[in-house]
Amino acid sequence: MPSKGIDGRSHVLATLAGLRHDKLTAHELRDVLQGLREANGALGDIEKAQVAELWRAHDKATRVPGTLVRRLAEVRSRATAAWAEARGRNDFPAFAPHLQEVLKLTRDLADALGYQGHPYNALLDEYEPDARVDEIGAVLSEVKEFLIPFVKRIQESGRKPDLAPVRGPFEHARQEEFCRRVISAMGFDLEGGRFDRSAHPFCTGIHHGDVRLTLRYKDDIAVALFGIMHEAGHGLYEQGSLGAFPRSPLGHVQSLGIHESQSRLWENNVGRSLPFWRRFYPELRAMFPEVLGATGMEQFYAAINDVRPSLIRIEADEVTYNLHIVIRFEIETELMGGGIPVDELPGVWNEKYERYLGITPPDAASGVMQDIHWSSGLIGYFPTYTLGTLNAAQLYAAAERAIPDLAGKVERGELLPLKEWLGDNVHRHGSRFKPRELMTRATGRPTSAENFTAYLKEKYEPLYGLR
Ligand code: ZN
Repeated sequence: MPSKGIDGRSHVLATLAGLRHDKLTAHELRDVLQGLREANGALGDIEKAQVAELWRAHDKATRVPGTLVRRLAEVRSRATAAWAEARGRNDFPAFAPHLQEVLKLTRDLADALGYQGHPYNALLDEYEPDARVDEIGAVLSEVKEFLIPFVKRIQESGRKPDLAPVRGPFEHARQEEFCRRVISAMGFDLEGGRFDRSAHPFCTGIHHGDVRLTLRYKDDIAVALFGIMHEAGHGLYEQGSLGAFPRSPLGHVQSLGIHESQSRLWENNVGRSLPFWRRFYPELRAMFPEVLGATGMEQFYAAINDVRPSLIRIEADEVTYNLHIVIRFEIETELMGGGIPVDELPGVWNEKYERYLGITPPDAASGVMQDIHWSSGLIGYFPTYTLGTLNAAQLYAAAERAIPDLAGKVERGELLPLKEWLGDNVHRHGSRFKPRELMTRATGRPTSAENFTAYLKEKYEPLYGLR
């Protein structure tokens, strides 16, 4: 879209957001929903879930006063602009007062929404319905206790994979062609979606017949390979859930921890696995003989599973990534409880990076100011990334129990049985069940760290000669 249209689009979006809020909080809707809630006994399970979902949205919208909604929107947009500028100049003190203001209003928002226990619970609910900080905190600290020594052992192994095989340069048009083959194998329906290029990769579901994926290409092929499996994982979910509940609130998935499980499962549990590359590596190498001609599959597999502590979350490997999340989660729960003054944030941040990852950011731009989330008021969002990772490992383990010889199928390029299992156990339910119930139905228990840590051990101990 043309850049000169930003102003006009902002006005249109603001108007639409206002209209949506008016409709969602209207007395007419309240009367209808209340009537349906009273007649609950006469409704089927799906209808009940539909009413509950709409009531939840209506109830939350009516709790927050319009003045706070507008003030938050204004402060967030100013803070985001201030963050971008301050980050460029590496100037945390310039950003601090804006962050202070966002945090204050976010606490007001939590108060308006209402919560039991910790104010963070009110914020979490926006991204992960019914999640609670004590439960998530317990799971994340289990992940942390496992990861800190595990990452240390990997580092002390002395093995550092040669990254040259993924660095390329890989020609962009051929990368795109390869990605197209991968998403076809995954069962993403290109007649019910599109696959294009953009500056920032995304997946957006407009309708089950119109789910759009975008990608960007670098010389390094890992960006596109794992980017496309990630976005197509989201895309399969959108095609499935919107298709199961067309024009219904249940078609739109509320839980980011579940949504992210679908992208991470394809990106990591499938896309970074040995069986997958046994099937696809010969094809990739044939497409890029000038880059991969002398590289064996094992060497390529080691390169795409390189683990080493780094400063930037979005560039982290699948192991250390979760320590980046633990750090953000610990800090933001404390910020919401009023435990850390904003001007002490860079120090707290750096100290945690040193303790958990053994590295210290040289400046705020590669430290506390690297992510857009806090300036945009997205507080409570970070833990859903790790929940997604844990759910992915748990769902994949359940799929392995349910599908005979899943590894063999992946090795033959037969990815559709996995897509179908996910469709039956996750996609077709849309937002009908809360994450706890969905995970229990699909895997036998709510989200836990167990399958994830077992997966890491099984995969990385041989890779790094740890046993
Ligand atoms: Zn994602």
